This record gives sequence, C-alpha cells and structure tokens, in this order.
Amino acid sequence: MKNIVVMGSTGSIGIQSLDVISKDNSYNVVGLTCHSNANLLFEQAKKYSPDFVAIDVIDSSHDLFNLCKENNIELITGSKASSNIPFKNLDLAINAIVGTAGLRPTIELIKNGIDIALSNKESLVLGGHIIMPLAHKKNVNIIPVDSEHSAIFQCLNGENHKELKKIILTGSGGPFLETPIHEFDSITPEQALKHPNWDMGAKISIDSATMMNKALELIEALWLFNIKLDKIQITIHPQSIVHSMVEFVDGSYKAHLGLPDMKVPIAHALSEDRRLAIDFNPIEFSSLNLSFQEFPKDRSNIENIAREVCNKGGFLGTVFNAANEIAVAEFLNGRINFDKIYEVIYRTFDKNIMSNDVSIDSIYSVD
Ligand code: NDP
Repeated sequence: MKNIVVMGSTGSIGIQSLDVISKDNSYNVVGLTCHSNANLLFEQAKKYSPDFVAIDVIDSSHDLFNLCKENNIELITGSKASSNIPFKNLDLAINAIVGTAGLRPTIELIKNGIDIALSNKESLVLGGHIIMPLAHKKNVNIIPVDSEHSAIFQCLNGENHKELKKIILTGSGGPFLETPIHEFDSITPEQALKHPNWDMGAKISIDSATMMNKALELIEALWLFNIKLDKIQITIHPQSIVHSMVEFVDGSYKAHLGLPDMKVPIAHALSEDRRLAIDFNPIEFSSLNLSFQEFPKDRSNIENIAREVCNKGGFLGTVFNAANEIAVAEFLNGRINFDKIYEVIYRTFDKNIMSNDVSIDSIYSVD
C-alpha cells in the first residue's frame, strides 16, 4: 500500500489522478491539497478520508472545518498550505498544481525524500537546476506526467542513454495551427479554451493555443532527460496519437502511441514497475491518418525563446514563465487580446535579468 498525496486535487489532472487511484487498491490517499476550491475539496475529503487536507484560501464558516474536526483530518490553511503539509509517512506525491505555485511543494517533497509524479512542468522551467541535482542527491524519482515526457520516459526505459541520438517532442499545434497570425487579435477565450484533442485546465489550454506549452515542454525535457539541447526536436503532429519519439544511433525509432487521455500517463507515473489496468479507448488503427510537420515558421520566436532559456539558464525560465502566466490570466479576464499574449512575453523577455545566484527565494522574488 502506497501513501499518496494529490496536490492540486481539485484540478483537471488532480481529479483524473484520483479517478485512476480509486480503481486500484494499492494506494492510500493520505493527503489532498488545493488553492481555494473548498467545496470540491470537501467532497474529496468525504470520499477519500485522508489524514490531512491543505487549502490556501477558505471561508472560516465552511463545512470543511466541521468535517475535518469530526473525522480527525488535519486541516492546513493559509498561503503556501501545500508546502506546509506533514511529509512523514508519504511514499508518493502527485504534483498537479498549476503554475509557479507548484515549485515550492516540489522542493519540499524532494527534501523529504518523496518520489514525485510531476505534472507541474513550471517547477522544472523555473527551478530545474535546483530540482534535478537535489532529487539525485536525495535519491528521489521524478516521473513525468506530461504525456510527451511520459512517452519519452517510456521509450527510453531499458535503453543505453549513450545510444540515444534524438528526442522528437510532438505537439498538436493547438486549435490555431492553421490560423494566420494576423487574425489572432479576434480570438476569444471560448475559442482558445477549446483544444481539438485534449480536455485540460484553462491555463494549459491557452498555452496549447498559443503554443507556449511546447516551449515550456522543451525546457522540461531538457531537465528530465539530461540531453544536449540540439538533440531535442519539436515536431507538429495534429492528431495527438504519437505522444513523442526517440531516435537511436542504429537508425531505430521508438514511439509511444495512444488516444489523447491523460489517465494513461498518470497511470504510468503512479505505477513504477507494473502497468495499471485502466479504462481506455483503444486505437482503431485502420482509421488512423497520421501527419507530421515542422513547427510553424510564423511562431518560431516561441521555440527560440525556449532554446535561449535552456542555453542561458539563470532567471530566464522564471521571466518567460511569469510573463506568460500574467498574459494568459489577463487574456482570460478579457483585458488583453490573444495576440497580445505574444507581445507581453517578447517584451518582458527582452528585459531579462541575468544572475548566477538562482535560489528558490530569488526565483519567487523575480517572479
Ligand atoms: P487546473 O487549473 O485544472 O488545476 C490546478 C490545480 O492547482 C487546482 O487544484 C488548483 O486549486 C491548484 N492550485 C492553483 N493555484 C494554487 C496555489 N497557489 N497553491 C496550491 N494549489 C494551487 O490545472 P491542470 O490540472 O490543467 O494542470 C496542472 C498542471 O499539470 C499544470 O502545470 C499543467 O501544465 C500540467 N499539465 C496538465 C495537463 C492537463 O491535461 N490538464 C496535461 C499535461 C500537463 P483550486 O481548484 O482550488 O484553484
């Protein structure tokens, strides 16, 4: 039985993770955390009877207080609640918090020697240089949940790293792959939230629509797979069936396939040395029509920024990610047009801050 905490349990990945976990009897949900969705956390706490729940923002009259009192569930509240959980007795954590807020919990988990199924890619974009060496030192496994990285992870399993020639990171291109850039100013949040293949949280849906998600994933791949930057290639694959590929020195390729369903990489990240049996829709191969194309030239700046972040390090990942988070939030609030997301990022990135002293606190202050 593995004691598991689901961080960001009220979000898209968190909910799907609990669904996967509840179908297998080898997990014991001991903790749930979120930011402010007290109603859903209440329902989840009732269902899973964890040892603790953590929430940043909650009304003092909420029923969750009573539920926790009556059932002896520890309730942690206040800012950074997800970082202040009891870490003892945990075997595994899913970090499915969205955004910069996920970094500190990732670090705390590693410090406490707890393996992480990592969905919060921002942790690596901001703090990959801290996370990976620390995880190595603490003997902590970081298993990717992101479908592309899970695919690469599985393709590399059992292989000799020295024989790897290239990682081919695929991306659907999002809903506006074929839309000319000059029409981007009229794209509404409703249109941008509708991904052709995946059903995801709001932030990552917009990141997929702008294709910033692929930039974040390139940086994520660099840290996870410890590979030279020029060996990572991005390829657009609109059908999202091939979740990524690897190329070896002998001309062999390995690809990971599946219909778009985040429960598949979640199940893999949770299960270590076995395959969890989950409900999934099988691929109908005779009806497949797969295509691949280059990253769109009119959006090449996005890939260039990601490569610069990888090359220069420092606070560049933090600056890029922060500009993106703010621009996405402002777009979703109706305060800027879709095309301005790019402008905010390009202009902020221009005023970058270089430093070799990149600690967790300085990352948050730059953010
Ligand atoms: P959602 O927006 O659906 O959920 C985010 C979760 O994080 C919620 O539980 C939310 O709590 C919690 N949260 C938000 N802010 C904070 C905070 N300051 N402190 C603690 N918890 C917080 O996001 P997704 O599930 O879509 O994405 C989660 C992560 O997984 C992201 O990094 C994303 O890039 C990555 N990912 C997601 C995929 C998907 O299919 N959704 C696919 C691949 C990667 P509350 O509900 O209370 O606000």
